[in-house]
Amino acid sequence: MKADIIDGQAIAKNLRDEITRQVAELKKKYDRTPCLATIIVGTNPASQIYIKNKEKMASKCGIDSVGYKLPVDVTEANLLSIINELNGDEKINGILVQLPLPSHINTARIISNISAAKDVDGFHPLNTGSLANGHPNLIPCTPLGCKLILQKVLKNLSGLNAVVIGRSTIVGKPMAQLLLAENCTVTITHSFTSNLQVYCKEADILIAAVGRPEFIRGDWIKPGATVIDVGINRKSKVADGKKNVLVGDVNFVEAANIAGAITPVPGGVGPMTIACLLKNTLSAFLKQNNLKTI
Ligand code: NDP
Repeated sequence: MKADIIDGQAIAKNLRDEITRQVAELKKKYDRTPCLATIIVGTNPASQIYIKNKEKMASKCGIDSVGYKLPVDVTEANLLSIINELNGDEKINGILVQLPLPSHINTARIISNISAAKDVDGFHPLNTGSLANGHPNLIPCTPLGCKLILQKVLKNLSGLNAVVIGRSTIVGKPMAQLLLAENCTVTITHSFTSNLQVYCKEADILIAAVGRPEFIRGDWIKPGATVIDVGINRKSKVADGKKNVLVGDVNFVEAANIAGAITPVPGGVGPMTIACLLKNTLSAFLKQNNLKTI
């Protein structure tokens, strides 16, 4: 195996340690603690695990959290009224609505009703707009985590060719904006892109956010490239007799023989997503209280 395996757990722990330090300092100086409100609708098992992990990590960093567990048939009006209440509650600094929501609820309407100042997922149109016009406020957690990993590995991203596979509002688009702000030459690809492999082969930085297990093959990758695998997929590995194994969007074994550095799945981008949610919660608290740094 040629590539360096990027330890997302370790990078995330460093970030959480810094957040913990700042939260403790805030408590000492002002007797105040940031507070995150989480909302989950229904009993989707994956969503329940994500929310539990987010609350657990918040608590480890000294951040308070309040959880709202709503029935799957909650009305959109009820959900909006809870969000409005949280928007007006001074003690709440961040609001996170776990996605996906049931189909009878308009997700875009819910997101745009969260106060932009408390939108710690960074999905509110004001926050996505601020990122696009080069004055970011709260940045979507997964792409922010990918950027921090890249800065740790490569130090300076300026002038590098970056290819992002996927154009979702949660990952692909904000990722491309962040790379552009780092002076990368950015190509965004998607399901209508012809000759995807040709674009991949030119990438010094390859970001895979497709949602298809082991889709990107080793021979698509430029030798020495830095590969960030955002994908989280379940796959049965018949040859190994294993069911429901967690794999990324990149064929890890093949890619690790060509790339210069690569994030594993699990243990790459995932831990950074949660650490960046806590970073956003702290940052929202600081801004709401007119504090720049501690
Ligand atoms: P979406 O389904 O919203 O977007 C997938 C993107 O991939 C779309 O833009 C789609 O193109 C593109 N795509 C699909 N098929 C192809 C193809 N054959 N060739 C090129 N592009 C293709 O997914 P998300 O962005 O929400 O998530 C992507 C992956 O990242 C998933 O595996 C998800 O589980 C994971 N994820 C991981 C997180 C983490 O913390 N590690 C957080 C968030 C997501 P088009 O727009 O044309 O349909």
